[in-house]
Order: sequence, then C-alpha cells, then structure tokens
Amino acid sequence: MKKTYQIPFDKDGNQLSYEGYGAMQYLDNFEFIDTLEYVSYRTGRSAIGFTFRRASSGTLVNIFITDMDKMLLKMVEGKITGKFTFCKRGANYGCKLLETGSYNKDIKRFVAYNQRFDAYYDLTTGEWMSNACKDPDCDYCNNRPEKVC
Ligand SMILES: [Zn+2]
Repeated sequence: MKKTYQIPFDKDGNQLSYEGYGAMQYLDNFEFIDTLEYVSYRTGRSAIGFTFRRASSGTLVNIFITDMDKMLLKMVEGKITGKFTFCKRGANYGCKLLETGSYNKDIKRFVAYNQRFDAYYDLTTGEWMSNACKDPDCDYCNNRPEKVC
C-alpha cells in the first residue's frame, strides 16, 4: 500500500516545505494535473528548493533539487505540464513530477504520450486518444490495456 501522509499548506493554499509556522491546513497527499511555472529559488536553513506557481490556482509549490533535476530538460520557457504529487524528504515537503503531459487547447484536455504503446492518452482519465489498430501482430496495440493506470 502507498504510504500516505499529510502535506502542509498556508492560509492561501500555498504548499509549505515544512510543518509548523504558517501551516493552516494539512491535506492528505494527492495527485494533480497542472502547468507549473518557475518563480524563484530558495536557500536557507533547510534544503535548497525551487518555487513554482500552479497555473490553475496561482498557488505555490516547492520542488526539491533532486526532483528539479528530473524536470529541467522537459521544461519549456520556465514551464512544465503534467501530473504531479507531493513528497516528503526528511522533515521537508516538496512537489514532484509523475508524468509529463501537455494541454491540448482544441479539445481542452491534458494529454500525455505513452511510449510502450506508442499512443496518446487523456492524462486525467487514462483513456486512449485513439483506437488500437486491427493488426493482430502489432507490437504496440497488442495487449494494450483498456486504460493507462
Ligand atoms: Zn497497432
């Protein structure tokens, strides 16, 4: 079973990198789909962190340097879109990328590419964007699950 813990947020809904001062609410860890935009970096008594703003809500999240490393090459003009969740490292809390995606303005949905099955899917629902082909020998479409989970 996935280990769950609660993530601290301030009164405005910004994610905090630590428990205690300023923490107004603790929410069970969750996943979300959004575009994050780089705001600033932070050095201090705790780990170096990068602050990003969520496009949907305008609230801030903290990214640890380790998780930033995995995101850097995928960022375009300071932004990255995909599925994220929160994580805990020692006494600190951060946000990390689970899957890279993009926002399709025409259909107003977040989509992602699955390499294994060479197909795009809806990042929110996990449904494929295209039907599997009819070729019984197709390496991609054979054994393609109903949904990406
Ligand atoms: Zn196929």
